[in-house]
Order: sequence, then C-alpha cells, then structure tokens
Amino acid sequence: MKIIRYPDRADWPELLRRPVMDNRSVDSIVMPVLEEVRKNGDKALAAFTKKFDHVDVDTLEVPGEAFAEAENLVDQDLKAAIEKARENIETFHRMQQITPARVITTKGVVCWQKAVAIEKVGLYIPGGTAPLFSTVLMLAIPAHIAGCSEIVLCTPPDKTGKIHPAVLYAAKVSGITHVYKVGGAQAIAAMAYGTETIPRVYKIFGPGNQYVTAAKQLVSRGDVAIDMPAGPSELAVVADESATPAFVASDLLSQAEHGADSQVLLFTTSSKLAEQTLEEVQVQVQLLPRAELARKALENSRIIILKSMNDIMDMVNDYAPEHLIIASDNADDLAEKVVNAGSVFLGHYTTESAGDYASGTNHTLPTNGYARAYNGVNLDDYVKKITFQQISPEGLRNIGPAVMKMAEAEELKAHSNAVAIRLKP
Ligand SMILES: [Zn+2]
Repeated sequence: MKIIRYPDRADWPELLRRPVMDNRSVDSIVMPVLEEVRKNGDKALAAFTKKFDHVDVDTLEVPGEAFAEAENLVDQDLKAAIEKARENIETFHRMQQITPARVITTKGVVCWQKAVAIEKVGLYIPGGTAPLFSTVLMLAIPAHIAGCSEIVLCTPPDKTGKIHPAVLYAAKVSGITHVYKVGGAQAIAAMAYGTETIPRVYKIFGPGNQYVTAAKQLVSRGDVAIDMPAGPSELAVVADESATPAFVASDLLSQAEHGADSQVLLFTTSSKLAEQTLEEVQVQVQLLPRAELARKALENSRIIILKSMNDIMDMVNDYAPEHLIIASDNADDLAEKVVNAGSVFLGHYTTESAGDYASGTNHTLPTNGYARAYNGVNLDDYVKKITFQQISPEGLRNIGPAVMKMAEAEELKAHSNAVAIRLKP
C-alpha cells in the first residue's frame, strides 16, 4: 500500500483506477455452457457439476430432511447471531415498503401505482471454503417481504455433494422454498431458461466469480432480469486526525481479505494518520488467516493525502465506492457531500463489517463505479411498480382536447379518434 501525497487533479483518474477485468475471454467460455443447459437441461447440469465441481450429484434438489440435519449441525451461538441479523435486515427492509397514493392529476382523472412482487426470483450463492450464508439473508429476506411467491436458490455442492449447513439454515429461516445443488454459469443458465427440475425465474440475484457474472450479463440480454453487474469488492475510508489508526487499518483489511482483486483506498488530510495507519495495516495483516489474499489486494490499494476535506469528498465522489467509511468527528457534515457511493458508514464505531452482516442494510451493493447510477439491492428490486388510471366522462372532457391535439400533431389519427368517439354529444 503506497502513500501518495497531494496529487494533482489531473492525476486523480489514474490513482482511482480499479484492477482491470477483461471479460471478453470469459464470455467465450460461458456461452457454450449456457447453450448446453438450454438444450439439455438437467443432463447438462449433472455433466457440468462433475466437470467443474468434481462431484456426482444424485438429486439436484436439496431434500427436506437435509434442512433439519443442517439445523442440528449449526451451533447455537451462530443460530442466535443469524437470528439477530435476520431481525435487523427484516426491520430495515420492511421500512422500504411505501403505501402508494392515489393522485387526481386533473378533475375526473385518477392515477396510482401499486408495487406487485416479481413472482419467481432466483438467488445465486457462491460455494467455496467460506460459504456466504449472510448473502442468503440479504437476498431472500427482501424477496419474502416483497411477496415473491417462488424463491429458489442455487449454490454449488462441496466435494461430498453437500451444501454447507449454515447456507441451508439461512435459507430455511429466510423463507426460501427450493434449494438446488448447482453452481457456476450452469446455475445461472438453469434459472434463466428452466430445466426439468429447476424452474425458470424472472429475475436473478447474487454475487459470483467472473463466470457467474458473465453468465448473468449474457442471459440478461433477452431472457431474464438481473440485480446489477457485480465486480470485485471495494472500500474507501475518509479519515482525519480524529480517527484511530488501528480502527482504520482493521477496516481496510476487512475489505482486503475478500479477495486478491479487492481494492481499498484511504483518503486523509493527515500525514501522521496515513503513516500510523500503514504501520497498523502491516502489523494486523500478519495475524490474518487470509493474509495472502489481503496482501495481494493491498497491492491494488493506496493511501492518498489531500489538502482539504472538500478535495477528499470530490475525489471520493469521482471514485464512487461500493462502501464508504467516514471516520471523523465531523462525519455528519461530510455525509451531506456524498453523491456517489453504495453504502456509507459514519463515525468511528460504524465499521463496515456491521453492514456486511447484521446492522440491517443490504450488503449487495454496486461495485466498479456503478454507484454513480445504481443503488444496492433493496425492496424495489423485487417488485414492479404497475401504474393504474381511471378516467370519468368529466375527466375525459377535461384532458381529451389536449390528447387529441397532441395525437394529431404526431399524425396518429386513431389515437385522436379514440377520444373523439367518446366525447361525441
Ligand atoms: Zn466486507
């Protein structure tokens, strides 16, 4: 992690560059997988699971008794922690429900909108050594609150053909109806096209490696909606003299340990804080089981010293971080200046880890600069807002002349006739 002092504005774009991802070669690997699943369904899934996950799965769907078994395997303390997180995530996402208002736009013309759940949604949870059961909660709880009638989950099996018990337990407590043992691009294809066993869904959510991400983007061109484009995780920390270097270092490392391609940036006006934080990072990283990954991520990472907090907030907004921590006594004021960010953590005790797990906000957030235009997953992602309107004879008399005038100006005579025929005395 390098310290960069007072860079010129002209150099900011270079300093804010993310580790490059080249997805073109990935598309050419993923496309045949999608095609094969579309053509051969379950048979293709079994073959890909054998090829990529090195395991034969007897049945794709996780049987009912496996959930009870998982419940016994997850220890009590973890269950209590999951319950705490579940409650907070539910409370926060319920707050996102809005009661739609009926609006009279003109006398006799009533318009309103209604949020109607997407009937079938598919969640993807990556496998691997550290199963992301927290992501099960983050994606399934809002789906459940929104009222999605079918919530399916795909996740790859381990070497013995099983799913991690914490993933199954989280699925059960967050109301998931079906879990399937399949991962990778083939799982995305299964949910996009449907197979004999796995139902086709209308929207796919969830993180994944570059193959999963490429598959989601490819199927979203015509077959199914997706949550958002996903990339490597990132964190920006804004800190001043009021911050504690050890706290800041711990936050930088908590993000760096996600993966070798993660990126963390520290912005500060204090040279002393920059140096002390760097020392702390070097001490704390040695103690991490995932030190290797974290060190790789730190190579993509920087500490940037600028003259003023205004400059810092400009640079942070240029970067559009997925996560932003403002470690300052003045966090509330600085928060007003945030324009581009996925999720913001204010003050010295608001560690980003809290948002990853249990504070209640969603941890599925826009990466790779998408925070300029996208928000993280929330209840709106699981519903369509359908608009309704009802017009009385008086209402049509009030807006009819405007409609006819505009239709005729666009040379759409039938449109104008549809009004005229109703207004005839
Ligand atoms: Zn994290």
